[in-house]
Parts: sequence; C-alpha cells; structure tokens
Amino acid sequence: MSALRRVLRSLTGPLTTPRRFDALTELVERRLDRLESHTLRALSTRQEQLGRQLGELAEEQERLRRTLNGEDVSEQDVPRKPFGGPLPLEVAPDEPADETPGTDCPPGPIERLEQCPVCASPERSIVCRFNKMITMRQMPDAKAARYDYALCHACGLVYASRRPAGARFAWLLEHFEESLGRVGLGERRSGKITLSSYELDDEGRARLRALASRGAFVSEHVTVGHKDHLWQLEEDRLANSRHVELIGSLVTLNAPRVLEVRSRLGSISASLRRLYGAEVFTIPLFPNQRLLIQEVYGIPADAKLEFDRFTVPYPGPFDLVVSNHMLTHTIRPGEYLETVRESLVSGGHLYIFNEPFEDEFLHREKSMFNTLNAFHLQTFDRDSLVRMLEASGFKVVHIRRDGGNFSCLARKVDGPAAWTPMSEDQRCRRLTLYRRAYEMAVLLLPDYARPRFAARWPKVLESARSRGIVGEDAQGRLRVLKRKRPTEGG
Ligand SMILES: [Zn+2]
Repeated sequence: MSALRRVLRSLTGPLTTPRRFDALTELVERRLDRLESHTLRALSTRQEQLGRQLGELAEEQERLRRTLNGEDVSEQDVPRKPFGGPLPLEVAPDEPADETPGTDCPPGPIERLEQCPVCASPERSIVCRFNKMITMRQMPDAKAARYDYALCHACGLVYASRRPAGARFAWLLEHFEESLGRVGLGERRSGKITLSSYELDDEGRARLRALASRGAFVSEHVTVGHKDHLWQLEEDRLANSRHVELIGSLVTLNAPRVLEVRSRLGSISASLRRLYGAEVFTIPLFPNQRLLIQEVYGIPADAKLEFDRFTVPYPGPFDLVVSNHMLTHTIRPGEYLETVRESLVSGGHLYIFNEPFEDEFLHREKSMFNTLNAFHLQTFDRDSLVRMLEASGFKVVHIRRDGGNFSCLARKVDGPAAWTPMSEDQRCRRLTLYRRAYEMAVLLLPDYARPRFAARWPKVLESARSRGIVGEDAQGRLRVLKRKRPTEGG
C-alpha cells in the first residue's frame, strides 16, 4: 500500500497545485485505507475458514490413521442420546451484575501474557475465554472468571493469557475449596484433613500429631475405628507406589538426592528412601501435609510451595526431582522448569505426574470449563508436553497415560534446547477440537450461567445443530446429544 502511495504521489505531484494535491492525496489515501482494511478483514475471515476446514480434515485423517493402526475408534460411531434438560432457542442477557459480591479478594495483580510461558512463541489463538468460575453462581469478583486461554502455535500448550499473581493468587489459594467451587464463598469444608488448605490451630496440630503417632501402616485387626488413625497415609503409599515402580525401573538409583515437589503426604520420598537409601526433601502445599510428613517420616518438609516465584529451598543439586501436578498450576511454567533443571545434576531426571490431559473435554465431551478451574493455568496433550519439555532442556524418556493424567520421566540434557514446533496440520486439528469443546462447554452450562453467553448462544446452538451435537428429542425439545459409552453405564 505505501508503495502504491509513493507511485501516486510521483505521478500527481508535478501536475497539481500543492493545495489541490493535498486534498486529492488525502481522499485517495482514505480510500486506500478503507480498501486495505476491507481486504485484510476478508483475508483473515478466509484464512479462518480454511483453518477450520484443514482442522476438520486433519481430524478425519487422524481417525483414519488410527483405524489403519487397528485402534478402536468406534466411539465416533456410538449413537447420541439426549443429555441434560431442554435448551432454549434464545437467552436473555444478564441484568448488570453487582460488581461487589462481598469478598475481600485483592483486585490484582493480574498478569497479561504476550507470549507462551514455556517456549516464548508469541503466535497463538484464544481458545477459551473463561475458567470454571463462569459456571459458578457467585465469583470472587467480576474479573475472576476471565482467563483468555490461548493455544501456542509453536509448542501447543494452552495457557491462561490473563492470570492472577501475587496477592490475588495467594487469596484464591487460601480460599482453595471456594475458588474451585467445592463450597460456596465464605464457607469452609470439613473432613479431608490431609488435603485441607486451612492453617492449623493448636488444637488441630495436637489432633494430627496424635493420629500421626500411629504411623502409616496400621493393621485393620488392631484399629478401633476409621477415625483413630490416618488411613490416608497407607492409601497414599499404595496409590503412589506405581510411580516409585516406574522411576526405579527406568533410572539407576544409588542413594540419590531427591526433591519431591507438591508432595502430598510424602509417600514417594518415603518409598525412595526405604528402597534406594535416598536423601529426600519435600515441598508440600498445605500446612497439615507439612506437619504430617515431618511427624510420620521425619522428612524435611518445612518449605512452602510457591506457585508464583518457585524456588528450591534446599541445597542442591538433586539426582531426581519428582513433581506432582505442577505444570498445570504454576504461574510461571517456563521459569519453573528452568529452576528445576538448574537444581538437577548433569543427566539428572525429572518425573512429572498427575498432569491432566485434555481428553475429557476434547474427546469425551465433558465441560471444558469444569476442567479449567481457576488454578489450572496450563493444559496440554501428549505431543505438546514432549515439545514443552524439549524446549525447556529435557529429553523425554517415558510417558504414559495414567487414568486421566500423564506420568512422564524426562532427562536433563546439556547444551541448547533442540525441538520441532507443531506442524500446521496439528495446529488446525487442535484448534478445531478446542472450538468444538468450547461449544460443548457453553451448551452444558447450568441455567443460571447461560445469560453470560446470551450474545453467543444462537451461534453456538446453530453450530452444534449442524454437527449433530444438539437435536430434538422425542417431545420435539432441543437437547444436547451426547455419545453414550458402555463404560459410563445406564
Ligand atoms: Zn509454546
């Protein structure tokens, strides 16, 4: 365009008086500007259409590839059945919301990310505007639900491009159960003493100490009742033994120095110490876990887990870092991986587990909003996890699906990171899956939350009908139609 303008100027320049020339140039420039913005809009619309088509094709190609490999892809052909209540054709917008719902949640800071927090690529697409709070009756404040999850075009990570940090994040964490929608705002949940986020008082500490004094393994033939000991300790040992088995089978461990991050009840550290003479250190999340790990196992657990500026509070280096459900949660995942890498010896290992994969909303038609709770700042698929780790100076050794989660063992590599960004096919396929999942999440909203999507509702409904996700039931009412899997019963 600017070249065109220069030509125009050189042609008209000698022929006109300066005043007429200015007016003429201005007029032509305005038209050129309009033409330019019109062309750009048309191009971007077309590009978006082509991206969608490419995504649908890539999705079909993937299905065929899996069929050829002899995998079971029959889920695609499972008949759809009505799910949930009838859907309205239109939704009236919300009354202007009360901006002060009566919580003392600090207004900031809210960080805005301009690039991928792991691979630093700026190219991305927004795939989901909201976190789970958009499904709750009450939110801490008007901004709490808005995360603008973006899909990185290079590594494939989906990350909240708006995210709370500092005092605001600390407040949400302190109100963990409420922020997750497990209890109403201002309420406290009782029970679950091993997972509770609340600070302990003297009485609580004394009670935990008394229970912990019975140890991790209390035989059923000597216990009086379920409440006289911490049965969770033994459960945790057994549940986590799978990770110890994997690590021990894949890594040579000779009295290794081990750091366990977000260690719950310290089971993995305790097992590694018993089996391999490991020197172990833990960074638990909650106060009661800190107390229990020290009381039951005598393992260092003083450190407080920082999701924001993660640091290693023990002297390194370590041969192994075990990291539970951190990549999903940490506010600065790139810095987290860098800090962990720096704390490892050359050739040391990182074992990641409990990192949920996106299957439940990309393939199993669950609500994406439900998975993306206020603390789930990152989400990824297997290939994206591999790219993220490679971009961060690790080589993946072993990766497996474990329930709805990934377990992954990676080795620290020396020298600069080498990795291949996602292909265009992969990106379009991923964007298509996300677009569908977003529609499903909107359709699955409870009645009271639908008005928040009033403007979008007709479009979502139309798109879902064209894909057979919404249709009429026997009574002629619009319903969500879900694939019913045999494993999900009834
Ligand atoms: Zn990235």
